[in-house]
Amino acid sequence: MDMHAIIGTIAERVPTTFDPTDYVGDDGLIYCGHCNVAKETTLDFGFMKRKVPCICNCGKQRRDANDRKRNAEQEHMRVKGLQELGLPGRELYNWTFENDDGRDPDLINAMRKFVEQFDWFYKNKKGLLLWGGTGSGKSFAAIAAANALMRLERPCLVTSFTRIAHKLSDQRYGKQDYLDNLNTFDLLVMDDLGAERNSEYMQEIVFDVINTRYNSGKPLIITTNLTIEEIKKPAEMSNARIYDRILERCVPIPVNGASRRRIKAAEDYCEVQRKLGLI
Ligand SMILES: [Zn+2]
Repeated sequence: MDMHAIIGTIAERVPTTFDPTDYVGDDGLIYCGHCNVAKETTLDFGFMKRKVPCICNCGKQRRDANDRKRNAEQEHMRVKGLQELGLPGRELYNWTFENDDGRDPDLINAMRKFVEQFDWFYKNKKGLLLWGGTGSGKSFAAIAAANALMRLERPCLVTSFTRIAHKLSDQRYGKQDYLDNLNTFDLLVMDDLGAERNSEYMQEIVFDVINTRYNSGKPLIITTNLTIEEIKKPAEMSNARIYDRILERCVPIPVNGASRRRIKAAEDYCEVQRKLGLI
């Protein structure tokens, strides 16, 4: 490519558009009629001079706005991708803090703080155990936190032991590979512990999932209808090894109780309770 062609290529790459309000300045260059900045410049190569387009202030603003728009679109696509991967159904995309019905502001506020301080939870290997009766908003709170983290581009997976058992019954998934894959997510939400069938097979799956997550040290949110007493003193001793691991890593938060109960719930977890603004 000769020098003229190279200069021509440079000129073509400058995204300058000319406008009817543009005018020619005293120096013979074209100026923008809006910002009065030159849209051309003279390149002096010694052996030749050449006028090439350059960008005025309005052009820069347009370019930056386009960059921002493109970045926002790309971010939106990345978040959509995380949601598709991380949520079991599209209806859950809208389970967000913004769509909260305001029934339990303490809980939602605590979950917001969990998201804001997620790095601390991640570093300190702490998660949450949301326990309370059916319809108390535990799943909503957990999934809203996952959605908020995914918007920050942190990969999260929302699933249940029943769903995992179903996946594992499909021979295409190697069990250990599947379990290891769960740890690629920064946050794992296991919805409705205790709702799964009470069989030896299911118990093994629950143990394997909890144990794999426990070993990884990555945060876990568990929701359950079980009471904290049932978790602390399980009727079946075979559940004790599961629940012990959960209690070691997940701070119990009672969900359908008044705030006072919530404050009293876990004196051993003061630091986390403070972080969540519950005390
Ligand atoms: Zn301009």
